[in-house]
Amino acid sequence: MIEPQLVCLNGHAAGALDWRCGQCGAPIEIAHLPPFDAHAIRNGDWSLWRYGAMLPVEPRLTLGEGMTALTPVPMPDGEVYAKLEYLNPTGSYKDRGTVVLINHLIAHKVGEVVEDSSGNAGASLAAYAAAARIHARIFAPALAPAAKKRLIKQFADLVEVDGARSAPTAACHQAAQHTVYASHAWSPFFIAGQMTAAWEVWEQLGRRAPDALVCPVGHGGLFLGFARGFQMLHEAGLIDRLPKLYAVQAAACDPIVRGWESGADTPPVTEENLTLADGIVVNEPVRGVEVLRVIRDSGGMALRVSEDAIREALRTLIGRGLLVEPTSATAAAALHTVREQVGAGALIVMPLTGTGLKTLAS
Ligand SMILES: [Zn+2]
Repeated sequence: MIEPQLVCLNGHAAGALDWRCGQCGAPIEIAHLPPFDAHAIRNGDWSLWRYGAMLPVEPRLTLGEGMTALTPVPMPDGEVYAKLEYLNPTGSYKDRGTVVLINHLIAHKVGEVVEDSSGNAGASLAAYAAAARIHARIFAPALAPAAKKRLIKQFADLVEVDGARSAPTAACHQAAQHTVYASHAWSPFFIAGQMTAAWEVWEQLGRRAPDALVCPVGHGGLFLGFARGFQMLHEAGLIDRLPKLYAVQAAACDPIVRGWESGADTPPVTEENLTLADGIVVNEPVRGVEVLRVIRDSGGMALRVSEDAIREALRTLIGRGLLVEPTSATAAAALHTVREQVGAGALIVMPLTGTGLKTLAS
């Protein structure tokens, strides 16, 4: 495989292990990803590596991530299709992005990394790094759910940081001056892995796109993975239109919703109040400009939900036998509004992002 060319959003060349542009600080992207080719799908492979021809790394390590079930769920405002992302190896969707990022790090013979996370991304990176014999140090909020912290400690060193969600990020940026920063928020390899969720949904629906996608958004890694994945299917002529994209945030931390409501290009930096949805407390999303752009281009919306609505949606999901964490319930809490927008017959897909086992055990 040819080494992928990396450039920042302003066109500066970037090094393979840079986490952001050394010249201007902007996020880095992979300049040329292979186009989506339906003939290149490896039909006998029941993991996300069935799309390996469209990914920017060689699969030297896999824990069997991807190819999660897409299952119909009766919800109060009609049936939706839930993509059971919490069934990935470490219990969240993050494993899709992590496995692509870790294979990039393996190719570059990286021996140690740092990362910051509210829990799921840290646990995911910790597990994959352990399997790759890469030493990982994970910076997490001291207030993160106890089971998420215990899970990280099974595989890696945990550094607990007091203060808001942005405090461990600041501590990690300091550490990243001396080592490799394997950031789920910044790495374009992470987002490349998330695109596979869109391709699976397309195959599981009989090679078509849903009418709408409803997704919790923090940094927007999964959301942008879906958006870019469907965009590639569209460019390949495999779907005739893109789904409407609905980004959902807790009212406690809602920069994307505020940016969307005000018509801004860049989301404002907001407060980080405590919320049940601990997985999406991000007051300054790395690719916030792109998140706002794809919502608008798709004809979708950014929606905020209250703590009461999250609690009620979580009860509904658990009542359907779906043991997810509260962050996952934010999407379900927005379904009433989305259904009003798209109509009774529309096909809605909702990823269920993280397992409830981690919060149940806290
Ligand atoms: Zn730059």
